[in-house]
Amino acid sequence: MDTSTILIVDDDPALLQALPQALNLRLDDIQVHTSDSALEALKLIRDHNYDAIVSDIKMPGMDGLALLEKIGELRPDIPTLLITGHGEHDLAVQALRGGAYDFIQKPIDRDYLVAALKRAIQAHQLRTQVFEQQLALKLHAKALERMVQKRTQELVEANAAKDKLLRIISHELKTPLTSLKGMTQLLYRQSSKVDSAEVVTMGLEDMERSLHRMEVLVNDLLDTSLIETNMFVLHRKRCDLVEICRNLIDEYTAGTGPSLTFEVPGEPVEVEVDADRIGQVIINLLTNARKYSAKGSPVTVTLQQVGYEAIVSVRDMGIGIPAEMHVNIFEPFFRVPDVEVQTGSHTGLGLGLYISRKIIERHGGHIDVESAPESGSTFSVVLPLYVDPTKDEVDAAKLSSRTQGVWTIAH
Ligand code: ADP
Repeated sequence: MDTSTILIVDDDPALLQALPQALNLRLDDIQVHTSDSALEALKLIRDHNYDAIVSDIKMPGMDGLALLEKIGELRPDIPTLLITGHGEHDLAVQALRGGAYDFIQKPIDRDYLVAALKRAIQAHQLRTQVFEQQLALKLHAKALERMVQKRTQELVEANAAKDKLLRIISHELKTPLTSLKGMTQLLYRQSSKVDSAEVVTMGLEDMERSLHRMEVLVNDLLDTSLIETNMFVLHRKRCDLVEICRNLIDEYTAGTGPSLTFEVPGEPVEVEVDADRIGQVIINLLTNARKYSAKGSPVTVTLQQVGYEAIVSVRDMGIGIPAEMHVNIFEPFFRVPDVEVQTGSHTGLGLGLYISRKIIERHGGHIDVESAPESGSTFSVVLPLYVDPTKDEVDAAKLSSRTQGVWTIAH
């Protein structure tokens, strides 16, 4: 138990001297303050949170009962013991009714006084503890309340974001679906007619485009969910990035072919990647370059080796992106506001760059963007080169900076 502090109030100087001495002898860790008048005592009570107060009832001026009343107003938690004269039962009853913790009869039995004081001190200390615990509980409840409010707010915002997302997704899926439905009906009608081959072919091409668009959307959603749930798996193999780029561009420009090609023959740029996923990233950058440029404007893909890194850049001469949005475009579902698709009609969900960034980061690389409105954009995919783990030394000549291939596409 901590040191307890008590106050004794009595106008009898002999008692005021004797009692503290007796208590100090019988009680450990006790500090006794004394006062020879109720008025003086009140001053002390204002300044100290006593564990107990012992006061004579009969005192000149303010008596013990009046003091008890004042203590009840000032510090109702402090137990007060009143000293009554021998046989003064009425006063004792009055004291108890007035809220006294106990009464002590004169002549004072020291043992009784000590026992009563111990009980009073203990009661006060318990009350203080309960009060402190209540206070701590109240603070804790307040903190919990604030946390619940914050979480609720977050949930409300997350819910609103989900609603917005659902609106975008349903809108994006509805357009190709409506087109598919219309085309199917048209083909049904045509199927009974002679000479319908041309219309049917056109209809099927339209349907293929719509299906492709839906496929892209669904795949983007699927990839995002795999990334967010940490279930995105890469199948990495050692391969040549020149070959990956060449094949992709041939496929992308099937029929037309790139308008300008430059490749350093026989010099591979070796990387250890999931070729399909890297292809997905480059195709996404090419599709964006086309989407956000005027029809016919050139798109250039450059493959360079710089130090321990391979860099594939896709440059367009399109509408560009304001600098303050360069960070945002890699966030999921972000689209630069008020931007019209320039070529083709696919708007997209704003997931392509997010997925691309995640794929490249999972390969230990990064994507950079340089762009300004009306000046076009350059997206650069930076990947670490393959390093043969069985060789102690890296061939320095192999690491020299060089441009390995440049392909220009005019849509
Ligand atoms: P989206 O499916 O909308 O194209 P992306 O994640 O691929 O989604 O791109 C996010 C946004 O970044 C696009 O909506 C577009 O506003 C902007 N953006 C991306 N690439 C380009 C580019 N080459 N030129 C201009 N803006 C671009």
